[in-house]
Amino acid sequence: MIRFLRALVLKILYPMLMLVAAFFKSKKDALQQFVIELNNKLVRAEGIKTKRILILLPHCLQINDCDVRITNDIYNCKRCGRCNIKDLIQVAEDNHLKLFVATGGNLARRIVSDVKPEAVVAVACERDLSSGIADAYPLPVLGISNERPFGPCFNTKVNIEKVKEAIEFFGK
Ligand code: SF4
Repeated sequence: MIRFLRALVLKILYPMLMLVAAFFKSKKDALQQFVIELNNKLVRAEGIKTKRILILLPHCLQINDCDVRITNDIYNCKRCGRCNIKDLIQVAEDNHLKLFVATGGNLARRIVSDVKPEAVVAVACERDLSSGIADAYPLPVLGISNERPFGPCFNTKVNIEKVKEAIEFFGK
């Protein structure tokens, strides 16, 4: 029943809201965030438990002037600690989880199809997160919006505690 509600939200309500957002552009982020939160509530209500969790991150979490290439292999990171990538690798290692940077929807889909997780913890902006969550259905995704103190797609951040909590939710 809850899974069906999730389908209604992601496959019917979400496209309808994006239609509304086409006329009220200033409300787009808020409507996408509303869908992400609704999805997260339903995923939690479903109570899915698994250790096969994939963590997906956006490339903009990497600080702009870092010259290490992490898109193909995040473990190229030198762990200098100037951006959240270091801590996220630590979280993935502590929990023995797969961790990838997805530079777009196509790559995210390919990673999901290769890794075949039973649940996903995803970090991204509201736009990528809401469309990715809808795309991934019925796979349960807990979405965490990134913080953008310098504007979109540039030196973004994420609350590591929220990532840990989402992993704990699925893994317990
Ligand atoms: S932690 Fe340091 S080495 Fe790793 S991606 Fe961030 S800036 Fe680059």
